[in-house]
Amino acid sequence: MPKARRSNDWGFPRWRGYEASREAATVRLCDRHGCEEVGDCPAPKAPNSPERWMFCQAHAAEYNRKWDYFEGLDKEEKEARAKAEKSENAGYAEAQHYGWSGSGDGSRSADEMRALDVLELEADADFAAVKKAFRAKAKEVHPDVKPGDEEAAAEFQKYSLAYEILKSAEDRREWKG
Ligand SMILES: [Zn+2]
Repeated sequence: MPKARRSNDWGFPRWRGYEASREAATVRLCDRHGCEEVGDCPAPKAPNSPERWMFCQAHAAEYNRKWDYFEGLDKEEKEARAKAEKSENAGYAEAQHYGWSGSGDGSRSADEMRALDVLELEADADFAAVKKAFRAKAKEVHPDVKPGDEEAAAEFQKYSLAYEILKSAEDRREWKG
């Protein structure tokens, strides 16, 4: 069997074809330099960034040990972040518990369902619809539009969190599918 060619660059997703079964599948490789393992553990690239590295379990653990995720955030941001992560991780754990298929069969975690509810979308809404709904709703309550309006700010936070949850779920599906 010919060896798949791949680059060892950081920051660019690398892929490997598997031909173990009749249907060839492509898996995401660990982002750590030179690592050949499957990268299925997301790790945030920076505070306040939705960008994620994808590491194998060993390298995700190594990365998390070396880096204070909350570094540089003020207290309020830390709390908001911790809350968001908790909510997101709960959804992830639940999805794993039910054996996340990633096959596009429309299965959604409870957190995703709540997030869809916040954006007033149906369970089968695709990510394009999520983006569209989020933009429309966020625009109405954006701090630039309603400066000093605490209620609007809370709404904006709510929509942003819902979007983050659905975005993460979408990313996991793409990488695992
Ligand atoms: Zn690795």
